[in-house]
Amino acid sequence: MSAGLDSSLQYLKGVGPRRAALFERLDVRTVEDLLRHYPRQWQERYETEDLTLPTATGLVVVRGRVLRAAAYGAGPRLALYKAQLATAHGKVSCVWFKHLSRRFDVFAALKEEVAEGKDLWVVGRADPDLAGIREIRVDEHYPLEDERWRLHVGRLAPVYALTEGLHQRFVRELVHAALEAHADEAVDAVPAELMSKRRLLAAPQALRGLHFPRSRAELEASRARLAYEELLLLELAWILKRRQTSETLKGFDYEIKRTLLTPFRQGLGFELTHAQRRVINEIFDDMRRPRPMTRLLQGDVGSGKTVVALSALLLAVENGGQGALMAPTEILADQHRATLERFLKGLPVKVVALTSRAGKKERAKILEALAEGSADLVVGTHALLEEDVRFKSLRVAVIDEQHRFGVRQRTTLRQKGSLIDLLVMTATPIPRTLALALYGDLEVSTIDEMPPGRTPIRTALAPEAEAFEAVRREAAAGRQAYVVYPIIEESARLDLQAAKAEFERLRAEVFPDLKVALIHGAMPAKAKNKTMAEFSEGKWQILVATPVVEVGVDVPNATVMVIQNADRFGLASLHQLRGRIGRGAAESSCFLVADPKTPQARARLETMTATADGFRIGEEDLKLRGPGELLGTAQHGELTLKVADIVKDADLLADARADADELLAADPKLLAPAHALLRRRLIALYQSRWHWIDLA
Ligand code: ADP
Ligand code: MG
Repeated sequence: MSAGLDSSLQYLKGVGPRRAALFERLDVRTVEDLLRHYPRQWQERYETEDLTLPTATGLVVVRGRVLRAAAYGAGPRLALYKAQLATAHGKVSCVWFKHLSRRFDVFAALKEEVAEGKDLWVVGRADPDLAGIREIRVDEHYPLEDERWRLHVGRLAPVYALTEGLHQRFVRELVHAALEAHADEAVDAVPAELMSKRRLLAAPQALRGLHFPRSRAELEASRARLAYEELLLLELAWILKRRQTSETLKGFDYEIKRTLLTPFRQGLGFELTHAQRRVINEIFDDMRRPRPMTRLLQGDVGSGKTVVALSALLLAVENGGQGALMAPTEILADQHRATLERFLKGLPVKVVALTSRAGKKERAKILEALAEGSADLVVGTHALLEEDVRFKSLRVAVIDEQHRFGVRQRTTLRQKGSLIDLLVMTATPIPRTLALALYGDLEVSTIDEMPPGRTPIRTALAPEAEAFEAVRREAAAGRQAYVVYPIIEESARLDLQAAKAEFERLRAEVFPDLKVALIHGAMPAKAKNKTMAEFSEGKWQILVATPVVEVGVDVPNATVMVIQNADRFGLASLHQLRGRIGRGAAESSCFLVADPKTPQARARLETMTATADGFRIGEEDLKLRGPGELLGTAQHGELTLKVADIVKDADLLADARADADELLAADPKLLAPAHALLRRRLIALYQSRWHWIDLA
């Protein structure tokens, strides 16, 4: 690679140390980083031809000659600059807003550039009235005499992610200058044979076409080229990661002794479903192979994944090893612990629990029990990942709700033992193609059958009064209800306040005769767990909750769920929430109380009333939201995809996978000179992110 691309941004004209520091916040340090700082979007900045019609976006772009211009005071701090412009499509007035400064004339540049007789481009916003666009509030203007306007207007203009102190205009011009000077040095990481096989644009051309496309078609061809490269790297990384575990030997094996498994099964009080038996067999077969298992267990909410996980853990214990079960929240970890203790009653299996809640002394005791091997199983949260948690002989680790964790955490847990078997579980099932892209190093087992005797949940959009009526009816019959309020990140504080106020209303006014409790995410873990345990024991009839109950909680006597402002929840969350009921023999109902304002919100609610099938819901969700939001940032960020979209680019992904396979079959460590750059990129992108050590 040329020194030009690798050189620090500071050597570009106009970037001093101060601006370089700002770029660093965007992870842009070198010229190459800047070329790979891809636009967030592209704005259609063609000249607005008809000034009598509103534009779809409110954006207006005009080009004209200044007829007159002047500055006006508009208050103690604010001043205006107004200009009248003659365009080919009529006259229009433009206004700039400026905060006054005591130190300098805020209009100095404007007076120069926007003076009578000057020609310019103006980009701004306008509210058209009946007479058409009357006034444009100007965001940017470009004098025609300065050729650089061509980067900003009269075209598809790139829009970049910024940070405070960096301006769109500056970044656009800088990227352009960097492209002019250095794009030709960009070497293709994609090997030449693939370039021609897939008919890909050369890197310099693709970079230019992505930043400053001359048409939508050029943009798409450039994007596809760069997306293919990202996906090729991703697939290579998955194959190598998978190879890393599958080429090594565990050094221990299992015998199905049944000393624990048989009494465990007999004590369950129910028969395993066919699907459960099938996946347990898949898992056992895998565990008994000499290579470490890396397996994803998919199964809808309530399909009975815990029993399957426990079977894998017990196989390890039967063979003198230890097992760990990691969950994303304390509530869930507590639930798992209670479940394990219930199912293992009377069996010689010692279970301990480790969360960040454990006191110093208690923690020390637990760590010792794990290190010396007196504890067989541990259930816990992220606390299990800490450095000082050591095992005598960890053989199996299970991660529940795996989408809450990333590849790196998965690997950290695995490294707590030497080459152990790993089972990750998810209740957000996704289509197979996507699963491969996301969990390329995993085998997949699927529970596609629900335990018998479940009555399907009735789901309806309903007014609050009707929902509360049902709550009352069920409470009278001795059953329990959840009333859930949304909390979303952007307005978390207000949402929490609202939920608390609602709790007061329900307790004091709506259900004064019933026992109502509140549980929310901001409560101390101890209080949360206490309330949850009390609800589980039947002390409360109604649990008012924020989405903390979303995951895994199991209270079979709860038969009603009221989801307030249901339009504000995502589809996966709604489905997870609904899965909290319908866990016993009694018929359950889910009420969605909502006033959906967008077509997407309406589509989500309709999907919920139409189906209870998690796989279908997963697919709908992908269509509505795309993978980024569905997966959560931890996972999506790990894939390091900037322009590729694993849903929309499914075809490219399939190509990339096939090509990655062939490439590594021919050159397993990418040592051929033609693959040097690919190898370098791969290491830079994935090695530390994934705790991945191969390729040496
Ligand atoms: P999830 O897959 O959502 O984690 P769980 O493992 O929590 O589901 O199981 C949900 C409930 O179903 C639990 O109460 C569990 O004991 C029960 N269960 C699991 N398997 C069966 C089965 N084969 N027959 C009846 N009930 C079952
Ligand atoms: Mg579960």
